[in-house]
Amino acid sequence: MGLREDASMGDGSTTGVQATGGCECGGVRYRVEGALRDVVHCHCEPCRRITGHHMAATAASVDDVHFESDATLDWYQRTSTTRYGFCTTCGSTLFWSATDKADILSIAAGTIDQPSGLVTIMAIYADEASDFHRLDGTIHSFGRDRPVDDPSWPVTGGDA
Ligand SMILES: [Zn+2]
Ligand SMILES: [Zn+2]
Repeated sequence: MGLREDASMGDGSTTGVQATGGCECGGVRYRVEGALRDVVHCHCEPCRRITGHHMAATAASVDDVHFESDATLDWYQRTSTTRYGFCTTCGSTLFWSATDKADILSIAAGTIDQPSGLVTIMAIYADEASDFHRLDGTIHSFGRDRPVDDPSWPVTGGDA
C-alpha cells in the first residue's frame, strides 16, 4: 500500500534544496526543500525587542524545513498561540510560528546562507516601528495587522 504515492513523490516533487541556513554558532542548521516566500518586515514591539531591530522573515511550509542540527534550538512561547525559535548558545533569532498558521514556518531571513535570492516586499506593524528606523517607501507598508486577507499578501514566491 502507498506504492503509487511513494512513486509520485519520488518523481520530481523533491525539487532539491532551496536554501540552507542556521544560527551564528552553528548549533542550529536547517535546509529548505521548497518554495520560500519573499521577505516581510515586522515592526511590532515583540519582534523589535526580540530581534533588536525588526523581524525580516521569509517563510516556508513546515514540511519543507529539515534540520541538520537542532541541538541548541529552543522556543520562547510568547503567547498561547505564537512563539519564537532561538539558539540557546548564541542567542540568534531563527523562527516564528503561530498555531493558526501551523503549516507555515516563518524564518528569520538573516539566518539564511547568502546569497538568498530573496527580496523584501512588505512591512507590517509599521505604526510600531522604532523612531530611529526609516521605513522603506518603496514597499507595501501596513500600519498594523498582518493582511492575510489582502490580495497582495503573498503565500509563496516573489511575483507580488
Ligand atoms: Zn547558535
Ligand atoms: Zn512582529
